[in-house]
Amino acid sequence: MKYYSTNKQAPLANLEEVVNKGLAGDKGLYMPEYVPTIDKDVIASMKNKSFQELADIVAQAFFGKDMDPQSLTDIVFDTLSFETPVVHVHDNIYSLELFHGPTLAFKDTGARFMARILSHFIRQKGIDSEVNVLVATSGDTGGAVANGFLGIPGIRVFVLYPKDKVSQIQECQFTTLGKNITALEINGTFDDCQALVKAAFVDDDLNKRLQLTSANSINVARFLPQSFYYFDAYAQLDRIGKADELVVCVPSGNFGNLTAGLFAHKMGLPVKHFIAANNRNDVFYEYLKTSDFLPRPSVETYANAMDVGNPSNFARILDLFGHDHKQIAALISGFRYSNEQITEIMRHVYYTYHYLLDPHGACGYQALVDYHLKPNETGLFLETAHPAKFKGTVDGILHSDIGIPVTLQAFMKGEKQNIALGKDFAGFKSFLLSVS
Ligand SMILES: *Cc1c(COP(=O)(O)O)cnc(C)c1O
Repeated sequence: MKYYSTNKQAPLANLEEVVNKGLAGDKGLYMPEYVPTIDKDVIASMKNKSFQELADIVAQAFFGKDMDPQSLTDIVFDTLSFETPVVHVHDNIYSLELFHGPTLAFKDTGARFMARILSHFIRQKGIDSEVNVLVATSGDTGGAVANGFLGIPGIRVFVLYPKDKVSQIQECQFTTLGKNITALEINGTFDDCQALVKAAFVDDDLNKRLQLTSANSINVARFLPQSFYYFDAYAQLDRIGKADELVVCVPSGNFGNLTAGLFAHKMGLPVKHFIAANNRNDVFYEYLKTSDFLPRPSVETYANAMDVGNPSNFARILDLFGHDHKQIAALISGFRYSNEQITEIMRHVYYTYHYLLDPHGACGYQALVDYHLKPNETGLFLETAHPAKFKGTVDGILHSDIGIPVTLQAFMKGEKQNIALGKDFAGFKSFLLSVS
């Protein structure tokens, strides 16, 4: 499989190059040259397969020509070793719980997968090569990437996070690991962290001295594996006869997760309609309504992993549908929710249906309700994080004291190690050069 850039100004690249670079040289996002399709019969047979078995079919279709199939199967079986159950909430609404991985959010899937693909290519090249992964995080990505890449030879990870702006639980998931993970506490905002990472990718000195790549959802090996669990969710619903008219709702920030769902759809997965749920950061919602895409600075909300003002994967969605707003708006609906609405939704669902939503899942759930499913349709929302990851917010809203899963407690016992840096690029650059 070859990959082209959405900006069409960079040469075609293969999987190894794409994973090693993240962003294309013309700052576009890489797209596969074609979307492989999976036969109807094969999709129908997935209800008799495990998550790993059916994910392997999808993985082979995308990546099987770029590495030996057995290595790819091993990667699939190793990385997808936790549950992603579909849970009934009420009536025809179901939750796809993607929070049973090591850091209790869906990003674990893509992060672990990308780590293993990158590691595969590094080992092929030989012992001397080293790749540096830079990742800016507002909270969740840092933990997932740090844990996915922990201890992998030949890879160093630098997590940049804004001082005092991530929750204590999130912070300990990437500051207590040590080994090949370095946490950089930046005296600035998330936007400053992201700007430092972007500047590093285009800096000539750094790129001459260091192999740098990104583990955000711009990286093909991070976002594309997220299409696996859409197939798995379909298979789970198919088992109980509920998959025929499926409406899938995705709480969205940078839109990597929704884009992976759209790829699954293009591959042949029978999803009738998609919904993008947003918080007040609603540039995609506005795009669907008006066909104008107007990025703006993000605002802070309870669903902070969706606080994105310029979603990076929008370029991929446009490209996938030939920039045709009509087609996009016909397949995807948008809804947006304020903090006050998120509060009400979480209380209502908890007290009425005894289902504990996190603030991101709350937007996803409510968008299905407001979409008004027809009686024969099944609604599935992606529950993107465990509510305990947002314990402060969730307890405040529900007047509760929700338990912290043991995996999270373990992180909280570790010793915090980080390096404090300013938000100026010169300081960040000399730091990176000093460790190279
Ligand atoms: C990252 C994240 C999102 C947004 O996902 P995108 O792929 O960026 O749209 C939603 N919810 C949670 C909990 C997240 O961590």
